[in-house]
Amino acid sequence: MAAYEIIDHAFDVVVVGAGGAGLRATLGMAEQGFNTACVTKVFPTRSHTVAAQGGIAASLSNMGPDSWQWHMYDTVKGSDWLGDNDAMEYLAREAPQAVYELEHYGVPFSRTEEGKIYQRPFGGHMQNYGDGPPVQRTCAAADRTGHAILHTLYGQSLRNNAQFFIEYFAIDLLMSDDGVCQGIIAWKLDDGTLHRFRAKMVVLATGGYGRSYFSATSAHTCTGDGNGMVARAGLPLQDMEFVQFHPTGIYGAGVLITEGARGEGGYVTNSEGERFMERYAPNAKDLASRDVVSRCMTLEIREGRGVGPKKDHIFLHLDHLDPAVLHERLPGITESAKIFAGVDLTREPIPVIPTVHYNMGGIPTNYHGEALDPRRGGPDAVVPGLMAVGEAGCASVHGANRLGSNSLIDLVVFGRAAAIRAGTVIDRAAPIPEVNRASEEKILARFDRLRHANGTAPTAEVRDQMQRIMQEDAAVFRTAETLASGVKRMNALYPSLTDLKVHDRSMIWNSDLVETLELENLMANAIMTVASAEARTESRGAHAREDFPDRDDVNWRKHTLSFIDDAGNVTLDYRPVHTEPLSDEIDLAKIAPKARVY
Ligand SMILES: Cc1cc2nc3c(=O)[nH]c(=O)nc-3n(C[C@H](O)[C@H](O)[C@H](O)COP(=O)(O)OP(=O)(O)OC[C@H]3O[C@@H](n4cnc5c(N)ncnc54)[C@H](O)[C@@H]3O)c2cc1C
Repeated sequence: MAAYEIIDHAFDVVVVGAGGAGLRATLGMAEQGFNTACVTKVFPTRSHTVAAQGGIAASLSNMGPDSWQWHMYDTVKGSDWLGDNDAMEYLAREAPQAVYELEHYGVPFSRTEEGKIYQRPFGGHMQNYGDGPPVQRTCAAADRTGHAILHTLYGQSLRNNAQFFIEYFAIDLLMSDDGVCQGIIAWKLDDGTLHRFRAKMVVLATGGYGRSYFSATSAHTCTGDGNGMVARAGLPLQDMEFVQFHPTGIYGAGVLITEGARGEGGYVTNSEGERFMERYAPNAKDLASRDVVSRCMTLEIREGRGVGPKKDHIFLHLDHLDPAVLHERLPGITESAKIFAGVDLTREPIPVIPTVHYNMGGIPTNYHGEALDPRRGGPDAVVPGLMAVGEAGCASVHGANRLGSNSLIDLVVFGRAAAIRAGTVIDRAAPIPEVNRASEEKILARFDRLRHANGTAPTAEVRDQMQRIMQEDAAVFRTAETLASGVKRMNALYPSLTDLKVHDRSMIWNSDLVETLELENLMANAIMTVASAEARTESRGAHAREDFPDRDDVNWRKHTLSFIDDAGNVTLDYRPVHTEPLSDEIDLAKIAPKARVY
């Protein structure tokens, strides 16, 4: 192995990731007085959060009656009763305050006539515990909400003297022999140096792994790196079988058309021009939850009522809306439709198809953001020194299906919660840990092996095969047959990781090696997804089994935990769902499991 010189850093807290979750955590940690580093592989404002369009959910009641209890109920129902009630209560209860905080930090929200924050309807957000019509709960800055939030949080983090390490690729977690996280090793992409970040707390905010699929709305940087690091450290990932397909990705391009489009009055039609969602979801119609709309669209296509020459997609109509509304509320998607579908959406429908969009699963945490490992002593045992927030984490507030606009609020509520918790669990007087040399050696050996990989399988080819397997075998609808095929094909592909061909041996701007490190992370996520999905013999939220069409609360209202070894063997375990809310302000009868209809 080449001898690598490592530059040493010591911080109280190291946050990995500078999307909405990472920046909110960074800002909060700095406000707690911690010496805080934020390490990110892309420039902060290029994180995928920048692409979030539709908005951020909070029961502000600016446009009509609402309450945090209704928001919690909708989230519970959206999760198909797999979410943890304590975490979901925390989310819904803290949401309004978190949005006002963003407002005060400077997020330029769209406004109502009276100057209040504008809110639009979004899928699955309803009035009166689901009994009423859609509620206007999703706070928006036109259709560029994520962009506005990310830029504001970056400015605030700088203002609080957080230290940024930009275009540093975090490779792996430094772990002590007794399972305490002590920091990370990162690679500085522009000068090729390696860096050791020692810390009392590492916060993973590395986002989702949408790119393990062929067609995804996520950025190419969404490669589940934090999940991969956790899995390699022998820690569990949770509920990986739940992958959200957004109903309206642009056909052929995968680019997202926000659910806000339907929030503003858009609707989908089949080849007969029928507004078919009225048939499937008489109350919520086009604003039913995402898993529901994606399944209905897939059924329409299957039954021969798809549009286009191949009858393989669906139309989204906005052409009946006032062009002034489109201009004011949805300028970004007007542009996307033009560029990626060649459509003038004031006159024509947009061709759309369900597209991979969000990972409900990730690193299991409690509602303080602390990472969990049941093997340390019970289902809620905490991994010392490690937290996870944002799409990488699984608190679990989204359970089996996330509601639109509930991710942005998750980022800021739990980014903040992690900082508050760190304020109580970090021993300020203690020295910053020295690291376990054996752990460091292992990380460097892996890095060196991949850098000099001289096998026969180019990274891009293995990635392409993985993406096709996932797209074909772990899709909107699943069966024992497709999932067994997915597991078999992923098992066959996994050993290619020991036969990779990396062409570039340099340390500076070696994108070949970056993509190879990302591929290893994607592969771990992908294989754990199919293995978890194959085992779950029920339908719940985004996991729709044709051979097991019903939800089975008796046997399956539990979180899947998956572990992986170096050879890619996945083992599964389970932990109970938290059914107790935090307070007695929740009527337990109201949130008890029942059939999920919209
Ligand atoms: C197109 C699109 C539109 C969306 N619209 C909405 C919406 O309107 N409302 C809503 O609630 N949700 C929306 N979502 C979902 C939501 O935007 C995401 O779930 C959320 O932004 C994820 O934020 P995050 O902070 O967890 O991660 P990200 O924003 O993905 O950021 C990840 C960060 O981790 C860093 N990172 C990753 N790996 C490494 C590594 N190895 N080393 C160093 N750094 C690393 C990256 O540099 C980046 O800074 C949308 C998602 C998409 C894809």
